[in-house]
Amino acid sequence: MNDTMFFQRDILTSDQFTKAEVGLIIEKARVMRNLVARQGTTDILKGKIMTALFYEPSSRTFGSFIAAMQRLGGGIIPLQGVVYSSVAKGESLPDTVRTFASFSDIIVLRHPTVGASHTAADATDVPVINAGDGPGEHPTQALLDFFTIMDRFGKVDGLTITLVGDLKNGRTVHSLLTLLSLYRPKRVNLVSPSVLPMPAERLQKAKQARIAISETDRLEEVLATTDVLYVTRVQKERFADLDVYERVKHAYVITPETMKHLNKNAILMHPFPRVGEIATEVDSDPRAVYLTRQIPNGMYVRMALLSLILCR
Ligand code: ASP
Repeated sequence: MNDTMFFQRDILTSDQFTKAEVGLIIEKARVMRNLVARQGTTDILKGKIMTALFYEPSSRTFGSFIAAMQRLGGGIIPLQGVVYSSVAKGESLPDTVRTFASFSDIIVLRHPTVGASHTAADATDVPVINAGDGPGEHPTQALLDFFTIMDRFGKVDGLTITLVGDLKNGRTVHSLLTLLSLYRPKRVNLVSPSVLPMPAERLQKAKQARIAISETDRLEEVLATTDVLYVTRVQKERFADLDVYERVKHAYVITPETMKHLNKNAILMHPFPRVGEIATEVDSDPRAVYLTRQIPNGMYVRMALLSLILCR
């Protein structure tokens, strides 16, 4: 295991990681956190340029990639709202990717189509990072979520992890379940409305990895035994029928009352944005780590990835 194993590599899916690679990224993210606390910035990526090519809305992923690159001394081409670029004229993804590959050293792509980052990676030799491909995957979010769990518990093995909400369309839980499957959690509870289950092929993969999985629509049944409660938003933009969305959008809402039933040592996570799934009164509960840990960890993990991919 050495620091050059990610040099010039794409990050497209959580499936690509080994346990050792996840360990290296986490270790590097800790180094980055110390670096930011000590000195704020460095210049190890001076002269390198990152294009952030975002075809879908984003706040945290976009902002933290930009901040990560700048804290490492690199330059950025921030393209959010590609409506102002030639994409609005009908340019294809490979043509856009090839264009920005000729200006930059790495491309971070968010796109509404599952598999778009693979298409982009096939179009260029410049490394591509998948920053969310429709209802597919969000591997860098899974890494920061994993980092947050490791920080709190020092392990994943033996933990009971409960993923709640839109498990069908939520790309963060798809990627996180894959990462968890590298380890030995005691159990993963999948809690969703019956119309929004974890896709069968992802479930199958986790089961093949011999992860103990329970599926239920009753959150209250699993609260007391949960160590990590990971809540997600119902992904309105993926619904063809908005009446269905309206029926399920508030299927699970975490309130101070819910927190009374959650294990005392548990943590409450959410990839954000939240649109009503966690009451703001819960934010001051010490178990709520989405604002205090998860969001800042996003920048450290992305600093880790950028430095591993761009520095030899
Ligand atoms: N921000 C996360 C994502 O891009 C979660 C979400 O949008 O619900 O997938």
